[in-house]
Amino acid sequence: MNKIGFIGLGNMGGPMASNLVASGLSVTGYDLNEEANLLAKDNGIQISSNIESLIEDIDVLITMLPASEHVEKVYLGENLLDKLDKSILIIDCSTIAPEISVKVASAAKEKGLEMIDAPVSGGVAGAHAGTLTFITGGSPKSIELATPVLKKMGNQVLHAGNNGSGQIAKICNNMLLAVHMCGTAEAIALGVKNGLDPSVISKIMQSSSGNNWSLEKYNPFPGIMPNAPSSNEYKGGFLNKLMLKDLGLAAQISKNSDAETPMGDKARELYEELSELGLGELDFSSIQKKYNN
Ligand code: NAD
Repeated sequence: MNKIGFIGLGNMGGPMASNLVASGLSVTGYDLNEEANLLAKDNGIQISSNIESLIEDIDVLITMLPASEHVEKVYLGENLLDKLDKSILIIDCSTIAPEISVKVASAAKEKGLEMIDAPVSGGVAGAHAGTLTFITGGSPKSIELATPVLKKMGNQVLHAGNNGSGQIAKICNNMLLAVHMCGTAEAIALGVKNGLDPSVISKIMQSSSGNNWSLEKYNPFPGIMPNAPSSNEYKGGFLNKLMLKDLGLAAQISKNSDAETPMGDKARELYEELSELGLGELDFSSIQKKYNN
């Protein structure tokens, strides 16, 4: 498991592939975006000019792509599965619809290939630091095989169940993340509009029952956490458009399963508003902008 092919070298995939190189593995990468390829090359990743040459001599194929349609296109669009050696383990780290994970994994199985879904939690900072959590779906045997490679990019590998289950768990988590980020931004703004200093109200809530991950690690109010995207004009991080995509996936699985998600639906409405304002490329903590006006 020493030779890795890595497709999708963006905000997450780039640093993840770099960590594989730093841990001594040989990594060949491919991205449609030339800038992403150049940056990856500077970090020791060998760049292939196409997917066919990338898969020539690898043990593991990792994909980190934006959404379902990209994953479907890469694996099923040009019969990639027919071209892969049967010994190659496939790990898709993208956050996509569970039914697409199941569809691609079933197609892989028909060709005698093992595939797992392994979406991640921990954001761009976690991807750089190598501290991601992988939320996996697939057979216990393939998760076990993937774990040593995943541990070079993160510190936790959690197993949710069969193929697609990693996606379901990730989608539930991100719906909750959106809900507490919106609530956190709203509560800080309420305190500020009533005369409190934003760092004071943040600290008080952090030491009280309102504490949550957004307050602890990712304060949405500018100037409180120097390394958070909020203190860097909401640049980088986890983009509003990707959060909106994940909330769309949550709405879809809630509809499919007849589960009520009123808080998730409200959060989706709020992220839709940001998108309509043209703020899709900002970090998702920029929901604070809605309340700071
Ligand atoms: P990104 O847009 O920065 O990177 C995706 C990369 O895939 C781009 O560089 C794009 O050019 C490339 N790509 C698209 N189609 C391709 C193809 N056919 N062949 C080769 N390359 C292709 O996105 P990201 O932030 O790295 O996110 C990737 C995935 O990780 C998404 O599913 C996202 O929801 C998930 N995720 C992101 C974060 C985050 O904080 N950014 C956190 C957790 C999970």
